[in-house]
Amino acid sequence: MNEMQYQVDLMNAMNEKLKNDQKMMKMIIETSTSAFVYYNYDRDEARVMGDWENYFDFTLRRIGDLQRVIEYVDEEYRDEFLRCINLERQGLEHAVATVRFTGSRKWVECEASMVYGAERKPADKVVRFKDVTVINDKNEELKYMAYYDGLTGLYNRNYFISCLTEFINRARTENREVAVIFVDIDDFKNINDGMGLIIGDEVVMNFGQFLSEFASDTVIVSHFTGDMYCLAVYDPCGQTSVEYIYSMIRNRTRQPFMTSDGREINIKITSGVAMYPDASENVLELINYAEIVMLRAKHDGKDSIQYFDAGLLSEFMGNLNIENKLRDAIYDMRFEMYFQPQYEAASGNLRGVEALIRWKDPDEGMIAPSQFIPLAEKNGTIVPIGQWVIEDSIRNYMQWKQDYNKPFILSINISAIQYRREDFVRNLIDTIEKYGMNPSDLELEITETALIDNYKDVTEKLKILRDYGIRISMDDFGTGYSSLSYLKSLPIDTLKIDKTFVDTVLEDDNTNIIMESIMGMVKRLGLETVAEGVETQEQLDYLRSINCDNVQGFLTGRPQTVADIKKLLNV
Ligand code: C2E
Ligand code: CA
Ligand code: CA
Repeated sequence: MNEMQYQVDLMNAMNEKLKNDQKMMKMIIETSTSAFVYYNYDRDEARVMGDWENYFDFTLRRIGDLQRVIEYVDEEYRDEFLRCINLERQGLEHAVATVRFTGSRKWVECEASMVYGAERKPADKVVRFKDVTVINDKNEELKYMAYYDGLTGLYNRNYFISCLTEFINRARTENREVAVIFVDIDDFKNINDGMGLIIGDEVVMNFGQFLSEFASDTVIVSHFTGDMYCLAVYDPCGQTSVEYIYSMIRNRTRQPFMTSDGREINIKITSGVAMYPDASENVLELINYAEIVMLRAKHDGKDSIQYFDAGLLSEFMGNLNIENKLRDAIYDMRFEMYFQPQYEAASGNLRGVEALIRWKDPDEGMIAPSQFIPLAEKNGTIVPIGQWVIEDSIRNYMQWKQDYNKPFILSINISAIQYRREDFVRNLIDTIEKYGMNPSDLELEITETALIDNYKDVTEKLKILRDYGIRISMDDFGTGYSSLSYLKSLPIDTLKIDKTFVDTVLEDDNTNIIMESIMGMVKRLGLETVAEGVETQEQLDYLRSINCDNVQGFLTGRPQTVADIKKLLNV
């Protein structure tokens, strides 16, 4: 092969390769879903390639035409876009921008590359447009999910916290207040349980929509979870004052909310308010405090608003502390029974003893039942505590009976929660039988509140117990409904007249008259009376004069330990 022939073959081979490369490049570009512009500066020649028609309805000839693309881009993204396609002005070799197209709402990624020639003069430029709508919408959705609550479209808790943080930082420099308002639908569980979760969700949505009307530059409205919403108000005043917002919410809840199936649902709401900087300067604390006072308002009767104050917080923290300790105390049974004697008013003989529980805390000493019984009732721990009270009191009582053989009875306080238990009657009778106690030596005390919630069930149980021989005593008479007419229908033997009556009876003529008529009536009903909280001789004398049967109080004997009761029985 001569030299010449060799050169020709080589050229042909190279041409063939070039042609193949070009063919391949052309195929790649043509099958691409992107649009390309190639521009050569020397020739001032522009060529479009790829899926250009899918993006633009004009074609390019000169580089100046590229600026027409700008009309496709949303106003908001134009600066960024221009910087990208005119990258040579900043001497860049590569630039990217993601922009939104006006008409089509497409998200388009624009990527530009430059090749510079001698003395860095622009030589060639390629710009690629790629549709990234699917990816970008997904990102937007993720962003949305990070900030908003899917059900109501309001801000979620996390985003609320970050907005509130901004408010507080601003308020610190501008010396303003910020109100955090916690809003919760009353008895929402009833809606969910009664009408189903879908209706529940609709109510949450509709109420959220109503709340969103308050949203502005200075009011953030958010939905936490379930039926809980939280608002933050920067520099509350006028139409953004807490009072105004609350009254608007209240007015709205006086009208029913409509559901999609045409039902009308009435809701009430309870709110708690904590103000920066008064309640706290800390974002999370403010939210917590607003919730705590909201819960407090629920406890006090719902459909209301409660403002934070330091007393409420310490009470709440105290309760929380006690609640935690109570669980430990039950585990170790750190309780002790005290017994307060009751005497017959006329003879002065011992009538019986009332069992009163005490909690021995290693740190705080004796904790009074008024401090923990309501909590124990709320969290259900009253059931094991109450069973222990019954068992311990009866055990002690039987020991005294055996040791001293004196006739007196044992009174035990039973909470409403205990009476409501299915197994209450059975367990009590089992315990009585286990210790061989005479049922007529036992008196159970019950309060009116225990009857109110579950009148039929509780009175039926009382009847069974009474038929078995146990006495029933109505405690704290005069503090509740205290209707004399219904006493007739109750299966009770004894009426305990509350300390508040005894306290005022000597000072107030009206109480005096009431007390005397109660005594007369009660006698006619065949009930025995015990006056509670008798502290003075005058009170005792008066009670005797109106024929009150028995007295119990500090005057005749405080609640005391088992050892003290033994001494008392020993005389
Ligand atoms: P209660 O059943 O009305 O008990 C009488 C309360 O009045 C007792 O308070 C007693 O110490 C107090 N007291 C008695 N005489 C006087 C007096 O002359 N002056 C004054 N100022 N107070 C007097 P305590 O022991 O603190 O019990 C408070 C309440 O806790 C009880 O009121 C009762 O409702 C509840 N409780 C106590 N022990 C038990 C229990 O074992 N089970 C249940 N369920 N509740 C209990
Ligand atoms: Ca009592
Ligand atoms: Ca009482």
